[in-house]
Amino acid sequence: MEDESVMAKGLVERIGSDDAILTHTPTGRSSVKQVSSILDHTTAIGQVLEMLVHPEHGVIRDISEIRAVGHRVLHGGPTFTQSVLINSEVKDAIRDCIPLGPLHNPANLMGILAAESNIPGVPQVAVFDTAFHQTMPKHAFLYPLPYVLYERHKVRRYGFHGTSHRYIARRAAEALNRPSKGLRLISCHLGNGASVAAIKDGKCIDTSMGLTPLEGLMMGTRSGDIDPAVVFYVMKHENLTIDEMDSLLNKHSGLLGVSGISGDMREIEAAVKSGDERAKVAFDIYEYRIRKYIGAYAVALDGVDAIVFTAGIGENSPFLRQRVCEGLGFLGVTIDPEKNNSRGKEVNITGEDSKVKVLVIPTNEELVIARDTLEIVSAANSGN
Ligand code: ADP
Repeated sequence: MEDESVMAKGLVERIGSDDAILTHTPTGRSSVKQVSSILDHTTAIGQVLEMLVHPEHGVIRDISEIRAVGHRVLHGGPTFTQSVLINSEVKDAIRDCIPLGPLHNPANLMGILAAESNIPGVPQVAVFDTAFHQTMPKHAFLYPLPYVLYERHKVRRYGFHGTSHRYIARRAAEALNRPSKGLRLISCHLGNGASVAAIKDGKCIDTSMGLTPLEGLMMGTRSGDIDPAVVFYVMKHENLTIDEMDSLLNKHSGLLGVSGISGDMREIEAAVKSGDERAKVAFDIYEYRIRKYIGAYAVALDGVDAIVFTAGIGENSPFLRQRVCEGLGFLGVTIDPEKNNSRGKEVNITGEDSKVKVLVIPTNEELVIARDTLEIVSAANSGN
């Protein structure tokens, strides 16, 4: 952490099978792939640790050099407004949030337990994807539903991708050489999941995802905003169960559902360029909805100083960025086509005459997790 450099990256896929794949990439050296039987997450983390101290591929000499572990946790509910040191109450609270994040929170807990059983006694920190959005005012996070649902079931907007939007808020201020105070930013995180955040003085004031990551922008396979009555109408006329409707909205909608081709933007762009009509309309909806949110958030922020594009599509698709920005003329946005012709790099693509800065910033959620972990563990060690 002295110079915030990455020593190694890795992942384990197909946990629970006899041919699980562990990929380990020490910085500056070639990747190692190991296929073996990994039946649970505790074994997976154990193998990751072995790889970190491996005589040939390792990056540390001894496991005791690992002083802390940081975890990304999807849903912190209304309880967590920032990252925390994990103890048994925190684990209970993450468990309590399972109804709000049924797909992710159980897996996040499993990761925490797996790390604990492999390296007991090493402090662990939870970084919540919802925490950054806890600064939203009540008029932005409450739904116009019976108030009792908020009181009884905590039904409200939480927002996600908070770790990414927080990184973008800080990095954009640095890149523009401006203090966060007074800066009005619209951060567009466009990956498989996609969300927009309105950020004022470094704090989130509104975001497009809601109680779950289904609300807001059109996504790879998720619908984003629709009339809620569509749900009953389709369930009734297609004779669907709640689970089937849930799957329709989360896995079979978005770019995939409209185009019938793919939820992957690379394939949609290729199909648009080859003249496919359904891909074209899917792309048009995708880009139109981003612009609608930018317009709405420019109002929510009372003006906008910078628009930032990040995540897979935001970082890598000059075509999408150009189409979105072309439609923002009323805000005085222009971009430089040459600078925009770049992928995966931090670049200021603002046009010469633009009234609003436009930036591409590769997100770095791992760095935010590492920074929070260091800060919290250092404070705990010094008795604060
Ligand atoms: P996740 O939300 O799963 O982290 P990513 O941030 O990796 O997803 O984003 C994945 C999306 O980025 C996919 O739709 C993919 O097609 C898109 N993407 C990646 N590279 C490109 C590219 N060169 N051009 C257009 N889209 C791209």
